[in-house]
Amino acid sequence: MTAASPSLADVLRPVKHVLLDFDGPICSVFAGLPAPEVARRLCSGLIAAGEQAPPGAEAEADPLALLRLIADARPDLAAAADGALATLETEAVRLGRPTLGGESVLRACFQTGRSISVVSNNAGKAIETYLADHGLSGFVAGVYGRTPGDPSSMKPNPRLLMQAMESAGAKPEECIFIGDAARDVEAGDAAGVATIGYANKPGKDLRLAAAGAVVIVTSMQAVADALA
Ligand SMILES: [Mg+2]
Repeated sequence: MTAASPSLADVLRPVKHVLLDFDGPICSVFAGLPAPEVARRLCSGLIAAGEQAPPGAEAEADPLALLRLIADARPDLAAAADGALATLETEAVRLGRPTLGGESVLRACFQTGRSISVVSNNAGKAIETYLADHGLSGFVAGVYGRTPGDPSSMKPNPRLLMQAMESAGAKPEECIFIGDAARDVEAGDAAGVATIGYANKPGKDLRLAAAGAVVIVTSMQAVADALA
């Protein structure tokens, strides 16, 4: 937390609905099956299907950026590429590493009567698989992964956040979003909801603060403690 920011407890006190990013706050999706390997497999799957990889695709190591690149260059391949990536992400989460304190946040929300929606650029199928595998599905009211075949739905687009709030019947001022990337803060901003920045790597605190995060935390356990 930075000295000038409001306290975490102050920010969380009025919150009825917690919107939670997945990769970072809940787990590290690509801890076991690394992102560059997932990108490589996505690309080689495309080529194996007889397609030509769009320019730059083979050098792109971020699977979600690769999906965007493919969909931009070849809209006709967007749905198939998204499906293939969703399958790879589902494989990845089985090898993913739970974030310390992430599960505690889910439990603290549940215990204090706050609903949780997971809002993520990852595939809903992969998120649901992770939650089920870890016995956490019951803590989550809704999962809002990217719209299949439509990478433009991904944050910083606020669309998924707005869907989550609408389904929860929640006003933005009753919500908080917790994410670990500047695009999360930007999406929160566009949706009218304040964002807590989870700085899980050196340097992220500055990027999250610059993007306008209301508070920065370096541990999800701190969020769980403040909720409880
Ligand atoms: Mg994230």
